Amino acid sequence: ELAARVRTFGGNGRTSDGHAVPLLANVGAPDGAQAAADAGAEGVGLFRTEFCFLDRTEAPSIEEQVAQYRQVLAAFPGKKVVVRTLDAGADKPLPFLTNTQEPNPALGVRGLRTASRDPQVLEDQLAAIAQAAQAETAEVWVMAPMVATTSETEEFVARCTAHGLTTAGVMVEVPSAALQSGQILARADFASIGTNDLTQYAMAADRLLGELAPLQTHWQPAVVQLIAATCRGGAQQGRPVGVCGESAADPAFAVVLVGLGVATLSMSPRALPDVAAVLESVTLEECRALARTAVDAETADDGRAAVRGRLPVLEDLG
Ligand code: PEP
Ligand code: MG
Repeated sequence: ELAARVRTFGGNGRTSDGHAVPLLANVGAPDGAQAAADAGAEGVGLFRTEFCFLDRTEAPSIEEQVAQYRQVLAAFPGKKVVVRTLDAGADKPLPFLTNTQEPNPALGVRGLRTASRDPQVLEDQLAAIAQAAQAETAEVWVMAPMVATTSETEEFVARCTAHGLTTAGVMVEVPSAALQSGQILARADFASIGTNDLTQYAMAADRLLGELAPLQTHWQPAVVQLIAATCRGGAQQGRPVGVCGESAADPAFAVVLVGLGVATLSMSPRALPDVAAVLESVTLEECRALARTAVDAETADDGRAAVRGRLPVLEDLG
């Protein structure tokens, strides 16, 4: 029965009692967008635009950007596509934008911060996204990476509005943004939690260091609490909060996220069937109870074990 559900997964994420949780895809290079659509993704929750330009020493032209962005939008006609502005940083240097000489690049001029030094690159990108959105039918949402403050949010949303991009949001991947999410979401249309970086910064554990893996898990109760705080801010403002970090691809954690109030889950396309199957095995009320278990856990291992132990459907997954 489970195998049949997985085979027929057509991208309608929902709990057993019918609470809809759109399951979206993370997309890097544009030529992966069609495969994501074929895998049943209901839209794109994270288009990592920096992957289009990783090797460049010169900023890409607006025309070239439009062509790349259109390829992703074209794979999702009429569907939501969340386009993230360039997230240059420690793990993804963009030679035309980032200074690789920083002593501590994960804490440096990365993500939206590069726009203070080089506003034209962001301006050109927003112009390109707006042109691509005009040419295709996908519903384009734009969001900025590595937002830490309300003023950064305000400035980013104003820039988007000036380009006619009317749905503008921010990623919550810095603890300061999680704690201020209410004020941030008074200024932005939506938030998407990047749990990879949120975990890195909450636990002060470099995401590139395998040695720190026990600290680098989204099951850390402090990380779960930051996600909960972000969702409370969203609920307070009536704005949707999604998750687009790797944690959304962990089926047991996806249930916790839904219980915390996360509206959409975005993941690598291959994770979609398992997450859909586990979500379909629980009610929204059960998700909330499992979320409380994860929030209240004393350790990451306790939280993971307690939640997994209450999801028998996990045993049926490959
Ligand atoms: C994240 O940090 O969780 C995220 C989705 O962004 P990236 O992995 O591209 O930094
Ligand atoms: Mg990130």
